[in-house]
Amino acid sequence: MEAVRTTCPYCGVGCGILAKADGSVAGDPDHPANYGRLCSKGAALGETLALEGRLLHPEIDGKRASWDAALDRVAAGFADTIARKGPDAVAFYVSGQLLTEDYYVANKLIKGWLGTANIDTNSRLCMASSVAGHKRAFGSDTVPGNYADLEEADLVVLVGSNLAWCHPVLHQRIMAARAKRGGLPKLVVVDPRRTATAEGADLHLPLAMGSDVALFDGLLAHLIETGAVDEAYVARHTTGLAKPSTDIEAAARLCALPRATLQAFYADFARTKKVVTVYSQGVNQSASGVDKVNAIVNCHLATGRIGLPGMGPFSVTGQPNAMGGREVGALSNQLAAHMDFAPADVDRVARFWQAPRIATKPGLKAVELFAAIERGEIEAVWIMATNPAASLPDADRVARALARCKFVVVSDCVADTDTLKHAHVKLPALGWGEKDGTVTNSERRISRQRPFLPAQGAAKPDWWIVSQVAKRLGAAFDYAGPADIFAEHVALSAFENGGSRDFDLSGLIAADYETLRPTQWPVTAAGSAERMFASGGFFAPGGKARLLETAPRAPVNATDAEYPFALNTGRVRDQWHTMTRTGRSPRLAAHLREPFVVVAPSDAKRLDLADGKFARLATRWGGATLRARIDAGQTPGTIFAPMHWTGTHAADARVNAAVNPAVDPISGQPELKHSPARLAAWTPAWEGFLLRRDAVRALPLDYWIASAGYAHTRYDIAHCGALDVDALVGSGMRLEYRDDKGGRRRVAVLDGERLTAVLFVGPHATLPDGAWLASLFAKPVLAPDERRALLAGRPSGAVDQGQVVCACHGIREGAIDAAIAGGCASVSAVGAATKAGTNCGACVPELAARLAALATRAA
Ligand code: SF4
Repeated sequence: MEAVRTTCPYCGVGCGILAKADGSVAGDPDHPANYGRLCSKGAALGETLALEGRLLHPEIDGKRASWDAALDRVAAGFADTIARKGPDAVAFYVSGQLLTEDYYVANKLIKGWLGTANIDTNSRLCMASSVAGHKRAFGSDTVPGNYADLEEADLVVLVGSNLAWCHPVLHQRIMAARAKRGGLPKLVVVDPRRTATAEGADLHLPLAMGSDVALFDGLLAHLIETGAVDEAYVARHTTGLAKPSTDIEAAARLCALPRATLQAFYADFARTKKVVTVYSQGVNQSASGVDKVNAIVNCHLATGRIGLPGMGPFSVTGQPNAMGGREVGALSNQLAAHMDFAPADVDRVARFWQAPRIATKPGLKAVELFAAIERGEIEAVWIMATNPAASLPDADRVARALARCKFVVVSDCVADTDTLKHAHVKLPALGWGEKDGTVTNSERRISRQRPFLPAQGAAKPDWWIVSQVAKRLGAAFDYAGPADIFAEHVALSAFENGGSRDFDLSGLIAADYETLRPTQWPVTAAGSAERMFASGGFFAPGGKARLLETAPRAPVNATDAEYPFALNTGRVRDQWHTMTRTGRSPRLAAHLREPFVVVAPSDAKRLDLADGKFARLATRWGGATLRARIDAGQTPGTIFAPMHWTGTHAADARVNAAVNPAVDPISGQPELKHSPARLAAWTPAWEGFLLRRDAVRALPLDYWIASAGYAHTRYDIAHCGALDVDALVGSGMRLEYRDDKGGRRRVAVLDGERLTAVLFVGPHATLPDGAWLASLFAKPVLAPDERRALLAGRPSGAVDQGQVVCACHGIREGAIDAAIAGGCASVSAVGAATKAGTNCGACVPELAARLAALATRAA
């Protein structure tokens, strides 16, 4: 079976993958993003390919329909709305999951033919502040460096980035370089939380939430004071260097960091020439995100540390093709190919596209776009490959807006999301293994995503779906395939360019699409640029970059007596976005099965919360019921909750429903990292877990979390009302244990020799972890001793092994602790003894933390 070279559909690292039709995947050793590495999510892609849960046929008003009928209905819905209310009454909301070719035709249709720029992408939630910061400083949305810089640097500063969990392969590249280069690059992590990334760093700066501008303004002041500014570079290539508003004293106060710690970081930065500052969602997802970006970029411009090996500011994107969306112009304030709405750009793009009704002004950004839907100003919306009813801030309001919208079209590859519930027309799109096109990763590298599976059901490529609707709306979108679209995208990037725009693919005009190798843009006849701006050449007026004055600002919605906690949101290692795909992998579910809220020990004590108990999180916008995790790495007064769980996977864990909808005034990026919140213990009447061979859509309980298992689904459950066993386990031959006084109930249900359901209810500390019970669902016939042990929850004499740490090999805490107790004193020794951490390496920071914690405890 031939392996096909393709790319991972998850994060912005953009790892190359060798995939086979049997679903096996391996890292592509020749891909320059990962050189053969994959993280746990990439390595588990094979478990997400099953047809179960796929949207396989078009539907109109909940009934299966032909493609012709569905496409006619979409075209008619949009044409009718435009005829009645004008072009600004329609909108597209698209996604960094789309391939560049899909993105290109969607953008061209709405901006060139429908006459509105009301198209925004979920990348607005991810890196819009970086885009705006780049454009303010460089005059263009250019990431100056590349991944090799992270290995060549002597100092890497990670700001608002839990790289070890969110971009694991980049983290592994840094850690491998450190092992090879005697500890270089030195690693500094700037993050209010002590994350897995911070655990492995030389220095962790747990700054006050949102104080990044003060930190980097203070750094710039220090660089100026100590003569670390590169005067020649600044004079030749920049404008606007002014004394920053913050000095080290003020920075220490605003960041709530000891002056000496700050001083040490500043001195390190000042004396180290080869510095890369990597920043991600902790910087971007803020109401002052653009200023944060520019405060970082200022420090690199002032020292001339940009565009040279091992130097530069480096924004890493969340999504696999966030960069592709920026390239085609799928943000509402861009037009196309890194051109905006200046009259000359509009004229140029209109002539190139021969567009009859080109949009002449920016459209609405994501949060305001859904607010316009709620107000009834937008009456028709087409959502492609994304789940805004779960992922946007104030997500319940987004769901309400969609519920009242007159015409909602959703194209997706999955059948059940919080957003699809509101669709009048559902259009089945290809899944990852079936897609054919290109994506661009965080280092400007364009790679092919190639199909290794046939299209499933009636699913079609997104570019085809959009083109068919375009034809019905009178646009001649006659593309034979993605190669045609890519060729047009390349030609537009080169059209009347002549070096005036950074995004230039003219060097690919004659390239063979099928065999296209990973290539960094700009790529011209002179070749591909690995780095930008070492010798200036910025796209701002005069070819000079702008040093911008930035000033620290408090969050838009501050905490108060009623909502005293600052809620920070983010990701976990083994899940991706709203879990529509990673949520189907039992291997990935085993790491962190339930959503949680992380609380500092002092706050937990005050609130009477214990580890593993329940807490009710509430904000002015919404709430969630979550397990409490008590963590000394959490700053008192702040809490953290992951954002992945939706109404499809949980009763009440839609954390984005609780997030405030404040946005950065320039980028429109929401402040997902800071919402005032309150927290209280939540005490159900009972709790437990349910394993069922047949999954159910929802349970009639206050708390349930569904997670994928092999041949079963697990539900972690709790409820304030009475326990109704019949409603949970279904019919069959029952084995039962009941201890009313102790609040315990254990039920196993068999269909002949096969296990069909298991229910365990009791105090948290008395429940087995359920891993052994879960393993029995794979067996067609239970052995007599297995039947006998069912109600004990584990074989006689066995002990629970705890949660999975290494997802690739399914290694649990118990095995790791046993190896450490047996004398393994390093991560590699633990790996040799247990295999943990020896495949993708994503769990290495946790192994290191476990070793350190056990060593401390032993001491
Ligand atoms: Fe995929 Fe992991 Fe690579 Fe990101 S780091 S692209 S999720 S394999």
